[in-house]
Amino acid sequence: MTSASPPAAPETAVIIVAAGRGLRAGGGLPKQWRDLAGRPVLAHTLAAFRHAPGISRLILVHHPDDRPHAAALTQPEDLLVEGGESRAASVKNALEALASTHVSRVLIHDGARPLVGCDLIARMLAALDGAVAAAPALALTDALWRGAGGRVADTVARDGLWRAQTPQAFHFTPILAAHRAYPGGAADDVEVARAAGLDVTIVEGEEDNLKLTVAADFARAEAILRGRGMEFRSGNGFDVHAFGPGDHVWLCGVKIPHTQGLVGHSDADVGMHALTDALYGALAQGDIGRHFPPSDPQWKGAASHIFLAHAIGLARGRGFRLANCDVTLICEHPKIGPHAAEMQRELSRIMEVDMDRVSVKATTSERLGFTGREEGIAALATALLVPA
Ligand code: MG
Repeated sequence: MTSASPPAAPETAVIIVAAGRGLRAGGGLPKQWRDLAGRPVLAHTLAAFRHAPGISRLILVHHPDDRPHAAALTQPEDLLVEGGESRAASVKNALEALASTHVSRVLIHDGARPLVGCDLIARMLAALDGAVAAAPALALTDALWRGAGGRVADTVARDGLWRAQTPQAFHFTPILAAHRAYPGGAADDVEVARAAGLDVTIVEGEEDNLKLTVAADFARAEAILRGRGMEFRSGNGFDVHAFGPGDHVWLCGVKIPHTQGLVGHSDADVGMHALTDALYGALAQGDIGRHFPPSDPQWKGAASHIFLAHAIGLARGRGFRLANCDVTLICEHPKIGPHAAEMQRELSRIMEVDMDRVSVKATTSERLGFTGREEGIAALATALLVPA
């Protein structure tokens, strides 16, 4: 009996077609190598597929002159293939390069569509379970006209019309055979597939999956990417300090005469501590005690603005700014109302933000609990950080 190794599992590959010289977008470089939000268009496109479940092989079809660029963007396991005279010739080169592999399904994608989403990739792969070929598209919603000499000559019925996108998805053997048989000049792989008699299923595309063609497309793509990177962080803080001997309290950076003082390791500014912890919380950076340990004598009696300035600095360092914050002081005395505006001013000065982003308000606890018995002051704070 001879032992044979088990047959290799069928693989799914993606062919990214980027061999064109498209200069219509401006910038002097073929569009797929131009910068989009800090990296080449193709880096976005490759990343979309590199992290997509179900795809095990990545083929980049490039112009012979672009070999160094292509090599810089790809990984050793990726396949680099030189493009041909036309798009169809480029795709055929890539298919031929896969002919002796275990690839059984293939997605074919325009390199200049960098915003393709993981949901669309998953829909295309799923479509191949029930179809030999599938292509994403969006139904036309705008009216269609035929124009002549700058005037509307006719209205064209848009029923049944679709805007074609990629990635187009195929079972490998039939699409390879279709390309080998095609005489040339196809606009896309659907045309090649249909010429070979393959049925192509339409799958719902994505509005954001635009093909970068002219300069305005880059601006739109950057706006979409910015929106995707829009991260908001919120945090809350709570603090309590007990009353003790003294003749003033510090609250939100303001010194207020009082019949008692607040006991604490630092200046015991309970409001500023709650706000500082809200900022650390938004950043998942612990609390004041983590950054300024009470066991460290250098922070004994420290002014709390040091803590607040540190927390807001940490937020800035991570690319955030304060959208707003809201501090609530809970006590019977001293009365906060007369000092609230000064507290807002002081907090906004320390954090270097406009006063209208800083709220300070107060409540009593209706004489209930430790604040009601005037044993101490409690403070709550909320902060929202947004991209700077
Ligand atoms: Mg405290």
